[in-house]
Amino acid sequence: MHDHRKLGRELDLFDTDPLMGAGLPYWLPDGAVVRHTLEEYVREAERRAGYRHVYSPVLGKRELYEISGHWSHYSEDMFPPMRLGGEQVVLRPSLCPHHALIYRSRAHSYRELPLRMAELGGMYRAELSGVLGGLTRVRAIQLNDAHIFCTPDQAVDEARAALELIRQAYRALGIEDARYRLSLPGAGGKYVADPALWQRATALLAEVLDGSGVPYEAVEGEAAFYGPKIDVQVADSAGRESTLSTVQIDFHQPARFDLHYIGPDGARHRPVMVHRSVIGSVERAVAHLIERHGGALPAWLAPTQIAVLPVSEAELPQAADLVRRCVERGLRAELAGPEQGSLGARIRSARLVPYQVVIGAKEAAADLLAPRLRSGQRLDALPANRFLTRVEALVGAHSTDLWDA
Ligand SMILES: [Zn+2]
Repeated sequence: MHDHRKLGRELDLFDTDPLMGAGLPYWLPDGAVVRHTLEEYVREAERRAGYRHVYSPVLGKRELYEISGHWSHYSEDMFPPMRLGGEQVVLRPSLCPHHALIYRSRAHSYRELPLRMAELGGMYRAELSGVLGGLTRVRAIQLNDAHIFCTPDQAVDEARAALELIRQAYRALGIEDARYRLSLPGAGGKYVADPALWQRATALLAEVLDGSGVPYEAVEGEAAFYGPKIDVQVADSAGRESTLSTVQIDFHQPARFDLHYIGPDGARHRPVMVHRSVIGSVERAVAHLIERHGGALPAWLAPTQIAVLPVSEAELPQAADLVRRCVERGLRAELAGPEQGSLGARIRSARLVPYQVVIGAKEAAADLLAPRLRSGQRLDALPANRFLTRVEALVGAHSTDLWDA
């Protein structure tokens, strides 16, 4: 596999500046297109799956993390608090506490459950400077997060549906070899104590995995401090495994925040929180996709989808017209004219672009295209509109195929 840091620089996707600080990368326009497209894919998949999106601030008062348990179990990974008047505020280490407060701000009936609350939001981790690099270890993280507040009876179905959402996303992203892990607590005091709840949550997650039919391995010492989780693992260019996606069933946070809903019996009941992330942090997901695909991202995700290459100055008007037609259809096309070098050089520099369209005198006269795919395959000449309609359909379906003739 490739190193995403090297490719990210070569492809002008992201970079860092010592004055912004280590572990705080910024996204260049092409990288921003990839990130935005990935975020929109996730939001749309979540909308279809019944999630509602919220926004919450990246800061919270220290007391909030004392209640959630982060302060006593996770403070080593948190930024130091900032003093503001007589208060201390903290860059948040997770989105869960904010979502628990949003749930708590309104009364809920059992009829509203499961309530699926999603956010692509910022969170922060005080990583040591020695381990920072590229997009995999960063201090500012954009997390694709969601919390499903549900009855205990609904938790397994919700967790299973979340796992299916993850598998669906991995198909669209071309990730075929993810490994599933049931992450359990290990020795040491970093976990909240309540053996009965740990056992209950672990049994439910095992039921989810068994029901989904995916092979998995149980590993001790990898749980969150408040509960066990299903982790979906991918490997980086050096073969190191890391967690991209997670599903957790949590009985702890609902108790800490005293969450409840009114049941059919008119009494107050405690909901369960299913924490889940489809693609994990946007930074780590993009890093993994760059490495996995060597920069040749699926067409729907590629910064430029169609490179339009006029043979000479004479075909420039037709080439510009084709780019305009692409843009009108919502496709991302770039014109690479003869001022950028010989045709061979332009084809080489567009080698990661899914579709390359050379326009010579013949194509210009007949409005026919003879596209070549990134894979090297050449298509028979076809009318421009037919080509664009096909590409539009493949991109709209988040297909990893470039052509399905
Ligand atoms: Zn959470």
